[in-house]
Formats: sequence, structure tokens, C-alpha cells
Amino acid sequence: MTDKGVRPPHLAAVLVGEDPASKTYVASKEKDSRGVGFTSSVYRYPENTTEKELLDVVNFLNNDPEVDGFIVQLPLPKHIDENKIINAINPDKDVDGFHPVNVGKMVLGMPTFLPATPYGIQTLLQRAGIETQGKHCVVIGRSNIVGTPMAIMLSRNAKDANCTVTLCHSRTQNLAEITRQADILVAAIGKRHFVTEDMVKDGAVVVDVGIHRVEDPTNPKGYYITGDVDFEHVAPKCQAITPVPGGVGVMTRVSLLLNTMTAYRNNIISI
Ligand code: NAP
Repeated sequence: MTDKGVRPPHLAAVLVGEDPASKTYVASKEKDSRGVGFTSSVYRYPENTTEKELLDVVNFLNNDPEVDGFIVQLPLPKHIDENKIINAINPDKDVDGFHPVNVGKMVLGMPTFLPATPYGIQTLLQRAGIETQGKHCVVIGRSNIVGTPMAIMLSRNAKDANCTVTLCHSRTQNLAEITRQADILVAAIGKRHFVTEDMVKDGAVVVDVGIHRVEDPTNPKGYYITGDVDFEHVAPKCQAITPVPGGVGVMTRVSLLLNTMTAYRNNIISI
């Protein structure tokens, strides 16, 4: 399209405050965008930015025809109501897929921006040739951005879905008994090495969503990254397992680019 003189897709990101993980995620999004030839812009604001100021930024991006999609990096400082900000994003530019309109469309199986992490996991399962139809998928974690949409997406009557899904959380009783029944186990708990080998059945497919930074003076970066699954002991039992880093995180980044591409096509057609 750019060869035909059409401008490239434009993904914008809004970053409020100094959270180190958020800064890293936004830097990755910027790098990824540039890497595939998108225009990328980052709007950085200090921790003490008011809700009203942030709503004004959202409104500005909503109305900028040159911006196809944008994300507001979460979490936001405590004095800002995240739901208010998400609600203010134009659903047509909500490439994170967090706006209630897009969540509703996802639940109903209508075309929309799927939340990047579950979208990436679904793509990963499909590309790895993992059969999902009729399989028992156990998802641990019910966050709005990972566990809940993952459970919904895999239970839909759709290609690369049709699983029987069990959604587990901190109040689930006999968790290990349930996870041992999983053909596909998705771990999105936020607790380092929470999933141990006794929780996984032989031949299962394990998807590790967790990201934990562990201090390590021997590492040139001063830390290493690991997941929610005790990879070393769980991997030998699995048909397939995702590594951390280099698994779900990468697919999440890819999904955001795919959503931006969709927003771009819709925007360019409507101009
Ligand atoms: P979250 O919002 O903290 O949710 C964690 C979920 O785990 C909650 O539903 C919680 O249950 C459940 N949980 C906590 N302790 C449990 C226990 N002992 N037994 C069973 N369930 C338990 O986390 P999130 O945002 O979904 O993120 C999860 C992890 O994925 C984090 O490490 C995060 O950094 C990582 N992440 C990675 C990516 C990526 O691209 N790879 C993207 C997003 C997040 P309750 O609901 O009952 O509290």
C-alpha cells in the first residue's frame, strides 16, 4: 500500500508515569512498529497527570485521522480511573481490544480487535498445529486482559476454538486436580513457577503467560525473565510448552501489530 503512495499504518501509545515494566513494553511496541514499517508515536506524561488531562489526550488521538490505533499503557496511576479512560477510547481505534464495545463483540464472536495476549495464544496454538476442538482447556487466572477473554475465545464455536473450558482463579478448590485434566493448560496467574510438574498431565500443551523479572547480578542485564510455569520440570511431560521469554510475550506484540493493521485498513477505506 505504501508503494501505491498510501501512508503507512500509525500506532500511538500513551505512557503515564515511570513504571519500569510499562516503559519496557512501550519501548517494545515502538521498536516493533518501526520494524514492520509502521509509524509509531509515544505520548509520555508524568505520574501526576490528571484524569482530565489524560481524557483530553485520548480525545485528541480519537480525532486525529493520521492515527489508526492507539493504546493507553496499563496500569495507570491510582488517582486515574482506568475504566473511564478505556471507555473514552474510540472503539474503532482500540487496538488493545479493551473497550466494552470490543469486549462485547469478542464475546459474541463478531469481528473486532481481540485482546492481544489471548489473540496471540490462539494464533500460536493454530500455527503450532495444536488441535483445540473438543479438548479440555484449563485457564488459570481470570483477569480482564488475559484469563477471561482466553476462556471465552477458546470456548467459542469457531475455528481454532471449540474447547471445553474450565476457568480457575484464587478461590478454585482442588486446583491441581482440575489442571491435571487439562489437554491445554494456560497459566496466567502472575506467580513465579506456580505451575509445577504434579499439576500437569503427560502429553499436555502448556502455555505460560507469566512474566517475572528476577534479579541476577551474573546476567549482563542484572535480571532474567521467567514465567508462571516451572519450565524445567514441567517441559519433559509436555507435548508442547511455550518458553518465557520468547513465547506468549512475542505473540502478544505480534497481535497488537495485526490489530493495528486491521484498524489501518478500516481507516484508509473510510477516508
Ligand atoms: P492478574 O490481573 O494479577 O490476575 C491473576 C489471576 O490469577 C487472578 O484471576 C487471580 O485470581 C489468579 N490467581 C492468583 N493466585 C492464584 C492461585 N493461588 N490459584 C489460582 N488462581 C490464582 O494477572 P494478569 O494481568 O492476567 O497477568 C498474569 C501474568 O501474566 C503476570 O505475570 C503478567 O505479568 C503476565 N502477562 C503477560 C503478558 C504477555 O504478553 N506475556 C500479558 C499480560 C500479562 P482472582 O481473580 O481470584 O484474584
